[in-house]
Amino acid sequence: MELLSPIDTIKGVGEKTTKLLNKLGVYTIEDILLFFPRTYLIYPEVSTPNPDNVNSLISIAGRIKTSPKVFRSKSRIDVLSATAFVGDIPVDLVWFNSNYLKSSLEPGKVYVFYGKLVFDKNRYKISQPLIFETEKYEELRNQIQPIYHLTKGLSNNLVLKSVKAALDNCKLPEKRLPDEIEDKNNFLTYSQALKTYHFPENFDELVKARKRLAYEEMFFFILNSRLQEDKSVSYPNKFRISHHSQTDDFRNSLQFALTRDQDKVFNDILSDIQGEYVTQRLIQGDVGSGKTIVAFLAMLDVALSGYQAAIMAPTEVLAKQHYEGFVKWVENAGLNIPVALFTGSMKASEKKAMAKLVAENDSCLIVGTHALISEGREFGNLALVITDEQHRFGVQQRDKLSSKGEHPHIIVMSATPIPRTLAMILYGNMHVSAIKELPANRLPIKTCVIKESMRKTAYKFVSDEIAKGHQVYIICPLVEASETTEAQNVTDYSKKLNEYFDGAYSIGVLHGKMKPADKNQVMEDFANHKTQILVSTTVVEVGVNVPNATVMMIENANRFGLAALHQLRGRVGRGSAQSYCILMNSSSDNRESERLNIMLKSNDGFFIAREDLKLRGPGDMFGVRQSGEFSFKVADIYQDADELEMASQDVEELLKKDPSLDNHPKLRSTLNSFLTNQFYVL
Ligand code: ADP
Ligand code: MG
Repeated sequence: MELLSPIDTIKGVGEKTTKLLNKLGVYTIEDILLFFPRTYLIYPEVSTPNPDNVNSLISIAGRIKTSPKVFRSKSRIDVLSATAFVGDIPVDLVWFNSNYLKSSLEPGKVYVFYGKLVFDKNRYKISQPLIFETEKYEELRNQIQPIYHLTKGLSNNLVLKSVKAALDNCKLPEKRLPDEIEDKNNFLTYSQALKTYHFPENFDELVKARKRLAYEEMFFFILNSRLQEDKSVSYPNKFRISHHSQTDDFRNSLQFALTRDQDKVFNDILSDIQGEYVTQRLIQGDVGSGKTIVAFLAMLDVALSGYQAAIMAPTEVLAKQHYEGFVKWVENAGLNIPVALFTGSMKASEKKAMAKLVAENDSCLIVGTHALISEGREFGNLALVITDEQHRFGVQQRDKLSSKGEHPHIIVMSATPIPRTLAMILYGNMHVSAIKELPANRLPIKTCVIKESMRKTAYKFVSDEIAKGHQVYIICPLVEASETTEAQNVTDYSKKLNEYFDGAYSIGVLHGKMKPADKNQVMEDFANHKTQILVSTTVVEVGVNVPNATVMMIENANRFGLAALHQLRGRVGRGSAQSYCILMNSSSDNRESERLNIMLKSNDGFFIAREDLKLRGPGDMFGVRQSGEFSFKVADIYQDADELEMASQDVEELLKKDPSLDNHPKLRSTLNSFLTNQFYVL
């Protein structure tokens, strides 16, 4: 069996399984070896249902007295149900669309069932429990189980067996890195690391395996960026851009004065666009620090100098909001500068009209989503391109936007904190500006963590804020009710909330499954204060600005990463009124409250992300990614910060001695095969 053999060369992987694995992006033996566990599990000791372990994942040993039954639910799902008796305590068990399990439960026999215990209508219940023979369970208790990403029809056990077969039958290279690096860092060999990462004997081993694999990923990633980077050249700045008095007049007419940091960043940009070479600048500023106005001022100077300036935002809602803000600002400034908008959901006729506007105006402002780059658009006179919320885009997308012009200046804006080393690699030759200070009129957001028992108090608080003329966000994890996940969903929640308040408020509903035009409408209604409450999934997370909203209430807050909660919290506290963040903790696990309490300690996104990681146990830690924007297979830029640093130094040293890898042909070819295997979203 070779690394590049198709997966159906594995015994037991037939046509059906092949299709399912393909769905998950697994085509070759190498793919399946790199299809790493999502998380790990150690099965708990068998316990007895009691009020203390309700809502926890537990295992029970229960006797099946009568044959399981099958029926069809109202939502046309096949439900298999049985009752297991732990002593004389009945526990109801249900499985969805799994009728084949019926024959594996023999009346009279005792099995172990693993799943989340709930207590409903005076009975214990477990949905979708895993089933084990009792002896088999004891055997498994001594092992760490890898848990893989699955798709409907594919069981964890099948993936596990396929991985095992691939590991046993495929010869793997022992050394992939230059000898001096393998030796110096005292790593497990590549094949040991792969084996261990799938089937660790203990967590210490797992940490070692991870160290090697994470290091390796970052090593190749950095090596590749460095090799690419050397090819880049500086382009002379052909644009004749100057600073205009109209820009100053507009700035002075604003209701607020720029903060010192905003002022400094604006000056940085001004010297960039008037400099000898075309520049690239990263503007890092936490949520609410006021990046948009700085971008606008720069774009204004560019337009007043006779050029086009474009800004690309990751969502339609945000693009629309920028567009409307810009139109208003241009009008307030008494200027006659056209503003164009391009989003995917616009009608063809609207897009055509906008394209005409751009074609006819050598100087204008252009706002849009991916639609700016994806629909064969041409901007003939582009001197500045900005990507907002850069971490949501790829480097390729940024470059694609700038390729619409002839080497325009580039600004990228981001609120996601990234370690310095990585910033240097990613934004290599970029200049960096930071907006650290928040506008002076801001009061720190007050945050609290509450339990279900406080719900009424929370709703009273919500209506008090609305009575003061303010608005409220409420975030739920799900779009609609789910058979397998117990969490609030926007669809039912908004109805319940409307009943609770007796229809007193108008409530908007927003989620990712809605059509873009509908989403825009809902967001617009909220921004224009037509609705008082917005019940939404996390789609509001990115960049949206409604300064009049003062409450951010997050349901099932324990289900979110703290970095995400921090972003959500940043949607309020954007005006001069006191704002609040209410985190509803639906978990009975003490560690969850401890984790959420970190949100009370700091308003610094980087600190929060790090503390979050420190608190998670090893089993958990391997499952979470804090930084969704880098799709490394193993590495996480926060968790593996040390390996990142090491890899960065090792690459530097290597390239000092052998700048184009002429003396390392083997490393070259490993790098190439590595690159074809990775899909970075940068
Ligand atoms: P972000 O940096 O998260 O993109 P925005 O640019 O959306 O933040 O700004 C958030 C809010 O702060 C906006 O309503 C904006 O008008 C306002 N704002 C920006 N700068 C200042 C300032 N210097 N003083 C007061 N308010 C400001
Ligand atoms: Mg923003």
